[in-house]
Amino acid sequence: MTTEKDYLASLKRARDNLPAHVFEKSRFKIPYADVFKEGNKTWITDWARILKTLNRENEADHLAKHLAREFATSSTEERGRLCLQGKFSKGMINRELEAYVKEFVLCEECGRPDTKLVKEGRILIKVCEACGARVAVK
Ligand SMILES: [Zn+2]
Repeated sequence: MTTEKDYLASLKRARDNLPAHVFEKSRFKIPYADVFKEGNKTWITDWARILKTLNRENEADHLAKHLAREFATSSTEERGRLCLQGKFSKGMINRELEAYVKEFVLCEECGRPDTKLVKEGRILIKVCEACGARVAVK
């Protein structure tokens, strides 16, 4: 006879056997930047949190340079914040951030954010650590 306790234990076993990413996928949301304008500079104040969310702490430069290029300006990192020269609205920055995440972070095959950028010669490849997909990015 199956007791409720057995039933719950078997449910837990089934859950434990599922790969962790099954639960992570629904949790991922593209992070939105907090933006603060100061004189002729625009700060992304939660830069460190964004890098962590995207798992790009070691590739901060790629994202920073991408944003700077899109806004035709320069960027510097300072104490976990990113400073862009010029005045840019929160909407502009988040549109670029979202475009970046779609192109350089999310896997085209499985839609998960568990990718890394690998340089092969002069080509940059987005490699998905979840499903193994490899896509060349610009
Ligand atoms: Zn994938």
